[in-house]
Amino acid sequence: MPPFHRETLASYLYRLATANQLHPDDLGAHLTGARRTRAPITLHGLAAATGRSPRSLSHALPELRIASTPTAHPPEPLLTRRTVCRHCAARRDAFRFATTWQPPEVNICPTHRIWIGPPVRGHGVPQLDVSAVPEILHAQRRHYRLARRHGRRTAADAFAEAAHITALWARHAFHDRGRARLIRALVDRPPLTGRLRPDDPITPVVTYPQTVDLARVLATPYWRRPASGDTDDLPRFQQDIDTHLGIEYHPENSPYDPLFGWFTKHHDPHAAIR
Ligand SMILES: [Zn+2]
Repeated sequence: MPPFHRETLASYLYRLATANQLHPDDLGAHLTGARRTRAPITLHGLAAATGRSPRSLSHALPELRIASTPTAHPPEPLLTRRTVCRHCAARRDAFRFATTWQPPEVNICPTHRIWIGPPVRGHGVPQLDVSAVPEILHAQRRHYRLARRHGRRTAADAFAEAAHITALWARHAFHDRGRARLIRALVDRPPLTGRLRPDDPITPVVTYPQTVDLARVLATPYWRRPASGDTDDLPRFQQDIDTHLGIEYHPENSPYDPLFGWFTKHHDPHAAIR
């Protein structure tokens, strides 16, 4: 049974155990020859048990590539766990929740246009098919560009900050700019008020285009620089937001707005001491 490309070791071992009708612990014992201690699984042990070459296994399983004693941490900084797309899993007749390591900017299966990004909580949330929603597909391309331009770390930080802000906007039905249309395109029963519950699993999907637009502003070195005490920049920031997001942002009317909070944190000298 071949691993998925970049499959997590835990996911592969789980699938291997079920395919062989073993309890995962028993498979672990079989691979390491140790029942009581949690002995590390080695590349050669796994190769011997699966009949697959160490080379092909280490190519597919990043954790085996990096260390001889894999841990629960990502094998490379900034890789994140993503459940494989349901069509990719079905095509391989694999367990639906097989998990792979992916760069954080990967949110859509490139082959099947299935949303594989957050939320990853629980297994009850069906993966959405976004193939008929060009704005979301386009946002994924812009997201890749963002990571290429600013580097994965900055892009991931700016995206996380932006996602927090757009989720709050979605919760209060602020700055809609097409969000209601995306909700209607993806769910049968859109909320009548246009407000999304804080835990609504579609939030990251329907806010995605706006989150990428906002992340592009928040990632620019000019706005990300350390707090300078220069709050005169607010009109320019407002203009940048309006241009990139296509909204009319009025921070002076909403002192509790999360985006204003972001600006203050980066540009208020007092907020710098935190
Ligand atoms: Zn797929």
